[in-house]
Amino acid sequence: MVDKKMLETSKEKRDEIYRDSRFQLFLNKFLSGELDKLNPVYDPKHGYRYPQVELIMGDPTSTDEFLNRLYEIGFLTRELYDKIIHCPMCNSANVSTIYRCPYCRTFDIKKSSLIEHVSCGYIDSEERFYKKDRLVCPKCGTELTKPDVNYRKAGIWCSCNDCGKSFDIPVPSHYCRECKADFTFEDAKYRNTYSYSLNEAVMKEAGTHYKLVAPVRKFLQKRGFHVESPGFLKGKSGASHIFDIIVSTDETAEELLVIDIVSSPTEDHVSEQSIISMFAKVFDVTPEKACLIAIPKMSENGRKLADLYKIKLIEAEDQNVAVNVLEASLNQASTE
Ligand SMILES: [Zn+2]
Ligand SMILES: [Zn+2]
Ligand SMILES: [Zn+2]
Repeated sequence: MVDKKMLETSKEKRDEIYRDSRFQLFLNKFLSGELDKLNPVYDPKHGYRYPQVELIMGDPTSTDEFLNRLYEIGFLTRELYDKIIHCPMCNSANVSTIYRCPYCRTFDIKKSSLIEHVSCGYIDSEERFYKKDRLVCPKCGTELTKPDVNYRKAGIWCSCNDCGKSFDIPVPSHYCRECKADFTFEDAKYRNTYSYSLNEAVMKEAGTHYKLVAPVRKFLQKRGFHVESPGFLKGKSGASHIFDIIVSTDETAEELLVIDIVSSPTEDHVSEQSIISMFAKVFDVTPEKACLIAIPKMSENGRKLADLYKIKLIEAEDQNVAVNVLEASLNQASTE
């Protein structure tokens, strides 16, 4: 059912989300295993929050909207985690529940248990039965020793310390510790809080690609490069472009190498379309070097285009072989 919902979201729309840098960072937390399920963390003032997502968003107020949007398009599944009361005046979650006298509305009430002495039928509040630490029936003087045999709890009784009236059911209401507002159930904001998981279909769709990129990323990090994966670069046009890996010698370096990795699990070669779309990004971003890793092979036309566009093409039967080829070419470049 969830997958159907995701499939109803058009490929175009899905690609738009995949290109969103915030979603990519969020997605990588799931794919790398850092996150299995996103659970909210309780904060007494603000209610439930998602600190891992707030870090990505840089702004806690847009976190709920972000998660909700991903749920709406089927990228995330969710489970009800808790219900929480927020103040209708200031929105704080620092809210207490209090019980009031139904006659004069004060919260200064006393709650006691009622006890019934079974054999004589006398009922009164618990403290009337206490004689030091023994329970003695005030009516007939019998000591009560066996709960549920010679005496039993007969309910709850409240008395008001203000108006002196007694009642069995108080009126619940809420008090905001932040803005000091009193409010009732009718006015309370009663919100759902969810825990989120990545939809299996997205896990599969993105996971295949993640596994392709991971060994290359690890290799470059080991070599001491500064690596962003996925990485985003703004082009001359103002548009932001995503690359599987962006490599630089350090965080401030101008010299950038961008790498994209494509595979063709069904055909014996990757179509030239991947070279064309990489060229469109490279043309806008103008990095020092661009490299496309094609697994297992690039089409004949693609090879010609790569040459024409000055995109370094690495053809390798799998990602581990690609790492070896990349290593060889890096060693060669450093000795040149
Ligand atoms: Zn408030
Ligand atoms: Zn009262
Ligand atoms: Zn009695």
